[in-house]
Amino acid sequence: MNNNHVTVLEIDSEAVLHNLAYFKQKLQPQTKILVVVKAFGYGSEAVEIAKIVQDKVDYFAVAYSYEGILLRDAGIKTPILVLHPQIQNLKDIVKYRLEPNLYNFKIFDAFMQLADEAPLMNYPIHIKFNTGLNRLGFWHTDVPTLLTELKKSNNVKVESIFSHLAASEDPNEQEFTIGQINNFAYIVKQFYEHLGYEPMIHILNTSGIINYPQAQFDMVRLGIGLYGFGNNEQETAQLKNTHTLKSIISQIHLIQPGETVGYNRAFVANQPTRTATIPVGHADGISRRLGNKEGFVIINNQAAPIIGNVCMDMIMVDVTKVDCNEGDEVIIFNHQQHIEYIAHKCETIPYEILTALSQRIKRLVKS
Ligand SMILES: *Cc1c(COP(=O)(O)O)cnc(C)c1O
Repeated sequence: MNNNHVTVLEIDSEAVLHNLAYFKQKLQPQTKILVVVKAFGYGSEAVEIAKIVQDKVDYFAVAYSYEGILLRDAGIKTPILVLHPQIQNLKDIVKYRLEPNLYNFKIFDAFMQLADEAPLMNYPIHIKFNTGLNRLGFWHTDVPTLLTELKKSNNVKVESIFSHLAASEDPNEQEFTIGQINNFAYIVKQFYEHLGYEPMIHILNTSGIINYPQAQFDMVRLGIGLYGFGNNEQETAQLKNTHTLKSIISQIHLIQPGETVGYNRAFVANQPTRTATIPVGHADGISRRLGNKEGFVIINNQAAPIIGNVCMDMIMVDVTKVDCNEGDEVIIFNHQQHIEYIAHKCETIPYEILTALSQRIKRLVKS
């Protein structure tokens, strides 16, 4: 099916490469880089992002096995870490040569059994430890049992040991974060002493790369930074915007004082008002919180506030003071500050604004 929608998310490949290079220059020359392309590449297009950076990175990560299969089906050969597999997915993981994160004994035992039955030889697995996020991962007290199990088998090979920081962007949580890093380093030491070989180790996400360069270990995991956000103003200023959301004006109305716009008649004109209707709505990820003049779009370099309630498939904007015609281009956002403004209005973070962009929007890579 060919998506011919006029509402388009442009992915700027040059910006993606700029952002990758920016983070690479923060790394030690030997530090490897994993790029996180979960959730359709943070709402963009995972396969396209992977193709743009595949020659320049060591690993990809996705959340679920299905996301990794999409990459393999598109011909991506780079190793792919599946961050959050389930027992039901393990067969597919092997079939597509994806690399599972094993985070508790239930999934670890299931994978060891599958690896024994197949049988697999030295199949790459990753072991995650919980050091304070309390989301996924083994406890440090599980290390002896894990080592015993791992030493019994040559069906698998631990490719990496990793953990995830809970508050790497927050300077007030520095003490906690350094505690996480130190506990992780202690776990790694025990592993190295008894395993007989040294898997790669990694703990840093984007904000971690920025704030804790001393903890790069063997690899870092770059997510939001690749997509243009450094989680603070100075860093974001060094990055380029990757996601531009555009549409066109479908129709212009001229309404008289007392007339209203949209559902629940939420906007009431108090003067002759020109409105433009744009084919993008809350089903596309434009939050209803942006209605009633909380949000705006850009038409011919002028801001046009969203008036009334955001509909499922449309928004209406006030263009009384904007020189424009039906068919003109509409910029819904095209720089990080606008995305941050939207996130602020929606009481959320840019991650959620980007990943909320629905699959109905056409994706277009700009090189
Ligand atoms: C999503 C994710 C990342 C990337 O985080 P960013 O803040 O986007 O850089 C890294 N590691 C894990 C385990 C993740 O789930």
